[in-house]
Amino acid sequence: MKNKILNKTLIILFAVPGGLSAQVHELPKLNYNYADMEPHIDAMTMEIHYTKHHQGYVNKLNAAIEGTDAATQNLEDLLLNVSNYSTAVRNNGGGHYNHTLFWNILSPKAKAKPEGKLLEMIDKQFGSLDNLKAELEKAGATRFGSGWAWLIVTPEGKLAVTSTPNQDNPLMDVVDTRGIPILGIDVWEHAYYLKYQNKRPDYLSAFWNVLDWEKVEKNLEDALQSPLLKKM
Ligand code: MN
Repeated sequence: MKNKILNKTLIILFAVPGGLSAQVHELPKLNYNYADMEPHIDAMTMEIHYTKHHQGYVNKLNAAIEGTDAATQNLEDLLLNVSNYSTAVRNNGGGHYNHTLFWNILSPKAKAKPEGKLLEMIDKQFGSLDNLKAELEKAGATRFGSGWAWLIVTPEGKLAVTSTPNQDNPLMDVVDTRGIPILGIDVWEHAYYLKYQNKRPDYLSAFWNVLDWEKVEKNLEDALQSPLLKKM
C-alpha cells in the first residue's frame, strides 16, 4: 500500500512539465556591490532594481515560455522574432536582456572616455563624445513614460542613437530602428526615483560617472562581428 502511494506521487511529480527542471533564464551575477555606484546611483535603488525588478522579468519570462518552443530558443533569437510570441515574452524577455546589458556596462571604476575604434566612430558620426552624450541624454529625457535610450550598431555597421518604450529594444522586429545595443540607459522611474524623484535629467547626467566605456568598446567589437546583424 505504501509503495502504491509512493509510485503515484512519483508519477505526478514527473508529469508536471518543467516542474523539476532548471529555469531556462537566470539572473546574471553582478561583479560589484549595490553600494559601489554611490553617490550616482544609490545602493537601495541598485538592490531593488536587481533583486525585485530584474528577477521579476526573469521569473515571468520563464513562466511565459515554459513548455513552449520558445523555451528552446536563446534570448537574442526570441527577441529578433518577438512578434511571433506573446506580450509576456516581449515585455519580460526584453526586460531580462535590457537589464543584463545595463548591469554589464556599469562599473565603480568606470573608464571615463572611449578610445580606439569606438572613439573614431563617435567622432566621425557625432562630431564629439559630448555631442553623443547630449543626444543620448535627450533621447532618455524625451522618452515619454517608461523606456530606454540606446546606442546601437545598425545592420550597416554604423552607430545610431535610438529610444524605445517599455522593455522593447532594438533587437526586436517590432521597432523602427533596429540594431544591436552596445549601451542602454534605463529611464524607468524605478531606475532613479528614490534618489532623483522627478529629475530624470539629473540621473542622466550622473549616469556618465558609472558608465564604463571599456565595456562599450567591447560591446562594439562583438556587435560588429555578430551574426545577428544579418538577421535584421
Ligand atoms: Mn529597470
